[in-house]
Amino acid sequence: MEKLVVATGNPGKLKEIQEYLVDLPWELVLKPADLDVDETGTTFIANARLKASEVAKALGEWSIADDSGLAVDALDGAPGLYSARYGKTDLDRINRLLRELGNNHNRQAKFICAIALANPQGEIVLTTEGICPGEILNSPRGSDGFGYDPIFYVPSQQQTFAEMSAETKSRISHRGVAFAQLMTELKQLSAQLSTE
Ligand code: IMP
Repeated sequence: MEKLVVATGNPGKLKEIQEYLVDLPWELVLKPADLDVDETGTTFIANARLKASEVAKALGEWSIADDSGLAVDALDGAPGLYSARYGKTDLDRINRLLRELGNNHNRQAKFICAIALANPQGEIVLTTEGICPGEILNSPRGSDGFGYDPIFYVPSQQQTFAEMSAETKSRISHRGVAFAQLMTELKQLSAQLSTE
């Protein structure tokens, strides 16, 4: 079974990625805590490529990385790449976003998730980007999930991310869409590697 290093220090993210890739013959492991990669890219996809490539090269193993965030139309795509750094806590980040959006009638927004897979030489072999469109509410609703979930309303489900079951969120979210898009190619690659 091929080892696949998840280029994150976050055990929650490892668990989530494990669930998406459960049917594939990879042994998923967390990257070492002291191996840090600066997210200096100017797009989600650039940051995902950077993380996957640097971790793969440093360890000589396959590596997968994701980078995600929320882009609000009326704020010219903010918080975007800075979604995690927009405030100290989830509540700070939500309050700042609601304050900056104020009474603006345009509440359109989207979550974006980019994923990159690098081979043990650090070359990027697969990339994809998943998007989940939605709207920013005026106040939080729901208590599940994390981050901006309570203010992100998905019209097709008539629920915020924080009101949805974990199963629904993982199917329709930016991350779910991105992993679903990756699956066919990832299966082909797994089959190819198992015959080498
Ligand atoms: P990263 O991809 O781990 O760098 O996360 C970027 C940031 O985007 C997170 O810290 C959250 O603030 C936000 N974010 C990404 N995905 C989600 C989501 O599914 N729900 C809520 N917030 C999210």
